[in-house]
Amino acid sequence: MSEFKSGFVGLIGRPNVGKSTLLNNVLGRKISIISPKPQTTRDVISGIYTTDTEQIIFVDTPGIHKPKHELGKYMNEISFETLENVDMLLFIIDGEEEYGSGDEYVINLLKKTETPCFLVVNKIDLIKDKNRLMENVLKFTSNYDFLDVFYISALNGDNIDKLLASITKKLEVGPMYYPKDQISDHPENFIIAEIIREKVLLLTKEEVPHSVAVVVENKERDLENESLTNINAVIVVERPSQKKIIIGSGGKMIKQIGTEARKELVMILGTKVYLELFVKVIEDWRNRNSELKKLGYFKDRI
Ligand code: GDP
Ligand code: MG
Repeated sequence: MSEFKSGFVGLIGRPNVGKSTLLNNVLGRKISIISPKPQTTRDVISGIYTTDTEQIIFVDTPGIHKPKHELGKYMNEISFETLENVDMLLFIIDGEEEYGSGDEYVINLLKKTETPCFLVVNKIDLIKDKNRLMENVLKFTSNYDFLDVFYISALNGDNIDKLLASITKKLEVGPMYYPKDQISDHPENFIIAEIIREKVLLLTKEEVPHSVAVVVENKERDLENESLTNINAVIVVERPSQKKIIIGSGGKMIKQIGTEARKELVMILGTKVYLELFVKVIEDWRNRNSELKKLGYFKDRI
């Protein structure tokens, strides 16, 4: 079996182009979540699509538009960070709307990032004049080298399979960031991950760099014992040598990390805790996933 793939996909598009409709269509097919409206940077996560082989985390980039005032500028800076730190982007446009200065603004932003981008032309069910559409799309594609162009209808589902297949093809091997059956983007899992990460850093001292990340893959009440919570978490490191340190000789270190973390988790969760820890090496984790920091996997954002 091939390895599990995952990644963060940023959505760009003017209001009303159909971003929400597209997400609903994609997420309606599979187990998924739509989290409440953003309050913090972390909450820009707008939906998670999980299958047996992949997980796509859709991230909103609100406020990507021409700044009209200071607040707008600030919003753009936040969104630009998102552009830089996701694995790929979908620039969603309304096929009926002519290329305009707002689009040019977005394209100039795209030129400043290395993040690959798909052009997604939506609402093709409304298109009557195909030639005009092609001329319009050419204005986009002649200004920027998109990975590919998709013509979809988010409303009736046309070509969404193709779009998903292409996204999946571009995803790299990675962990399941969110449990498959998770129904909301609940911060509790971040806090749990953070406690474990803190113990790793404390106990391994300087030997393991701060780039270590912890992802809670599963957390559930025990079926037979109501007062017990079962937690599986993955400690992600960049190199096999770091994995060795975290496991320790005869598994001593990881056992100690687990024991220390469990003590705190018991207090926070108010139940007994069975904690299972895995260590996984993902090379270049930091470069590929510095976005995780901004998305709240690390302490400064919690
Ligand atoms: P958002 O602001 O980008 O999230 O846009 P929404 O998803 O809220 O969609 C804005 C409007 O466009 C809604 O009335 C949708 O029903 C409509 N819409 C979205 N996608 C399509 C589409 O593919 N075809 C048609 N005909 N309407 C669409
Ligand atoms: Mg919307």
